[in-house]
Amino acid sequence: KFGSWKEVIDFAKKSGVLFYDFRFSDIGGAWHHVSYHSDSITEDSFKGLPFDGSSITKWQPINQSDMQLIPDLEGAFLDPFTADVTLVIFCDVYDIYKKQMYEKCPRSIAKKALEYLKSTGLGDTAFFGPENEFFIFDSIRVRDDINCQYHEIDSNEGSWNTATAQYNDGHNLGHRPGTKGGYFPVSPRDSQVDIRAEIVKTLHQIGLETFVVHHEVAQAQGEIGVKYGTLIEAADNVQKLKYVVKNVAKRHGKTATFMPKPLFGDNGNGMHVHQSIWKGGENQFAGDKYQDLSDFALNYVGGVLKYARAIAAFSNASTNSYKRLIPGFEAPSILTYSAQNRSASCRIPFVSGAKAKRVEFRFPDSTANPYLCFSAMMMAGLKGVQDKIDPGKPMEEDLFELSLDEIREKGIQQMPHTLREAVETMLTNRAVFEQGGVFTKEFIDTYKELKFEAEIWPWEARPHPYEFLSTY
Ligand code: GLU
Ligand code: MG
Ligand code: MG
Repeated sequence: KFGSWKEVIDFAKKSGVLFYDFRFSDIGGAWHHVSYHSDSITEDSFKGLPFDGSSITKWQPINQSDMQLIPDLEGAFLDPFTADVTLVIFCDVYDIYKKQMYEKCPRSIAKKALEYLKSTGLGDTAFFGPENEFFIFDSIRVRDDINCQYHEIDSNEGSWNTATAQYNDGHNLGHRPGTKGGYFPVSPRDSQVDIRAEIVKTLHQIGLETFVVHHEVAQAQGEIGVKYGTLIEAADNVQKLKYVVKNVAKRHGKTATFMPKPLFGDNGNGMHVHQSIWKGGENQFAGDKYQDLSDFALNYVGGVLKYARAIAAFSNASTNSYKRLIPGFEAPSILTYSAQNRSASCRIPFVSGAKAKRVEFRFPDSTANPYLCFSAMMMAGLKGVQDKIDPGKPMEEDLFELSLDEIREKGIQQMPHTLREAVETMLTNRAVFEQGGVFTKEFIDTYKELKFEAEIWPWEARPHPYEFLSTY
């Protein structure tokens, strides 16, 4: 934790920092960086560093490309993966033309969402606890991506060719966990003990506190519990976690992916998001209603469930996301809440004490930009509190067993089935996200264009390998 830029410079000198590495996230959530030799850095550098905003997808036009990075004192860490001592610094983006924080900078949007929370008088702090699951594969080979005919994923826990759905040889598969067999036999079935340990040690080195570390249900799938934080902190931590998981995997010649559904027929990767809203040091979610929740919390749940189909554009931000949201894989498809139930979209975890009271939304995945996802969920939740949205009755049964007819008869809402459905639903509910100017009109329009041009249309236009199995 630093109190001033002078402290940062002093720390850097003492620690032999040779490079300062300034980072920011684009709309999709990819982390970008630019480095400076430490000799070139003075306190003035932190007032703003120039970069070319026209080379970041869907940001600036070429004739207005000059933008500025505004470094933030929060979240800095020494990069564990560089040969030279490098200090990484989080940045927000400033628009020199409009003379304000850039409306397409996700981290700035998250800061506006927090301001909005305060302005409603409903709270002053939002805590988020994301759980990002991931796979570590020996390789991911994508062949013929023009026709999307074939792709192949290998891991030493079993190698799976999704085009032909058959296991390959090439590895010793004697100890592999098998489909849905990963939770959680000891080694040698769990072959990722040491690599996860290395990831955890690296996370601690850069200031992330972790707790549970385990193999997940699918082959080659893992999860590392990272301590919750405030909205910005938690989103920054997602960026750090992905960076560490991917780089440690790379160091071992492997590929890590947070893709929601890389394997047909096995569990996918979620990013469950625990959350609670606080005011004056009091958890607003604690009360004496269902599962010791407050009316505030139940209305918040009501808001998130009501707008979940729109939030999905941010929380389940890829075409692949919707392959995960099907019954039978611990990922939700039905919009209800319940205690402990892993088939519901919202689970109330069993915890003791008012401080720990929180709700867990299970539909998001790691293709979400965490800044946008957490902000969008909070905006919808607050709308629920303001409008006193009733979340209905909890559903305790196994929802995966419900037939389509029952779902229809009971009038239960489902998550969207495609990214197109999600983005279109988001557009019709855009007012929820545009409250208080948090997501601006220009941003929402840009987001829509990005999703359609880069993901929805290219994906819709390609024949899928499965379609070739039919005898038309
Ligand atoms: N992998 C499951 C998902 O896709 C979640 C498993 C769990 O409960 O942690 O959301
Ligand atoms: Mg999990
Ligand atoms: Mg969970």
